[in-house]
Amino acid sequence: MNAEIISVGTELTLGEITNTNARFLADQLRQFDIHNYWQTTVDDQKERIVTAIRQAKQRAQLIFICGGLGPTADDVTMASVAQALNTDLVLDDMYWATVQDDFRQRHLTLSPENIRQAYYLKGGQALTNPVGLALGSIFSDHDHTYVVLPGPPREFQAMVTQSLRPHLEKLTSGRTIMNRVLHFVGYPESTLMDDIQKVMGTQTKVIATSYVQPDETQVRLTVFDCPMDVAQQRLDQAEEQIVSELGSYYFGSGEGLTLASQVVKHLKQLGMTISAAESLTAGLFQSTICSVPGASEVFTGGFVTYATEMKTKLLGIPEELINEHSVVSGEVAGAMAQHSRQLTGANLGIGFTGVAGPDGLAGHPVGEVWIGIANGQQTITKQLHLSQQMGRQAIRQQSVQRGLLAI
Ligand code: ATP
Ligand code: MG
Repeated sequence: MNAEIISVGTELTLGEITNTNARFLADQLRQFDIHNYWQTTVDDQKERIVTAIRQAKQRAQLIFICGGLGPTADDVTMASVAQALNTDLVLDDMYWATVQDDFRQRHLTLSPENIRQAYYLKGGQALTNPVGLALGSIFSDHDHTYVVLPGPPREFQAMVTQSLRPHLEKLTSGRTIMNRVLHFVGYPESTLMDDIQKVMGTQTKVIATSYVQPDETQVRLTVFDCPMDVAQQRLDQAEEQIVSELGSYYFGSGEGLTLASQVVKHLKQLGMTISAAESLTAGLFQSTICSVPGASEVFTGGFVTYATEMKTKLLGIPEELINEHSVVSGEVAGAMAQHSRQLTGANLGIGFTGVAGPDGLAGHPVGEVWIGIANGQQTITKQLHLSQQMGRQAIRQQSVQRGLLAI
């Protein structure tokens, strides 16, 4: 099956933003063995969108129209698709009623214009949006399928990976034999897929696609058209090769797995508890670990010691140690781990100190982070050099993930 991706948006044609949606979708389509031969970009103008769809119809069976589903008058995509397909738009009454109820209950005001986002293509189906208001739509006639999706990347990605997946599986009539999701943290995004391809070799029958999230990168391995046992074997072999080469950034495989849940499971098996003292992450580690059901069996409690003096007052770290080594140092991260462990009576302690930005601190650049882990016998420390470009939140999130990975 072949596909065309039509991206809609004046900000795209003006060069104001990079078309990451097309890149993301094209990568995802590979796991269904759908060939994306054409990508078109068009501005928010009805006639040109209609023309683009009619042209795409001449050459592709599966046509994606992405962006421009907002509530305002400049968002004309859904109406343009309806025109190109000679169909109408219908209101999803049930969905619209649910949205209204939901807003009422949360005491939020809904703009009357938002109703535009509850329409889908008549004769087709609505596609649910797990993270936003705008519905998508899927419409099939005898030899084409059209899929309409919203532009904001967070909504776009959630819809492709969740709402659209079952439709793509059906369209490709179960040619996907088997999937496996591998989870990575901290691997340089730009090289992960290249490195995986190198490890698997050019002869591989396994297709790898990636999905980058703020706290991890998922790599989905897919195998087509072969007996089940062969598929299983191919996936096992690919996973083994990947883990043996890139293992230090890998934390497991399986749908829905998180690093925090792996750590909680691991500590439970060992019968161990952990506590934390956090500076730049300010409680994010503790919150992350406690988001896992059953965390109470392994997490004792911890400290947020953001200001330097709180590291002394709350944790009892000697002022001289901080002055001698600087507050952003392995020594201080290690001491934070040791003191939090001793104060709570946990088996393990973990400490985080570093610079989240936007400004550097005491000669340390943004993105310099120290993690300490103490178990009573020894203390290990780890230094991270995260990129300033990631921004403050991502630096804090990555620090937590790298701490979890180190446990
Ligand atoms: P909204 O309700 O935000 O208007 P929408 O479905 O109408 O949603 P657009 O107006 O096309 O979507 O785009 C909304 C935002 O999503 C844009 O400002 C842009 O930041 C981002 N965006 C849209 N299309 C793309 C794309 N192809 N790649 C990356 N980002 C995109
Ligand atoms: Mg818009």
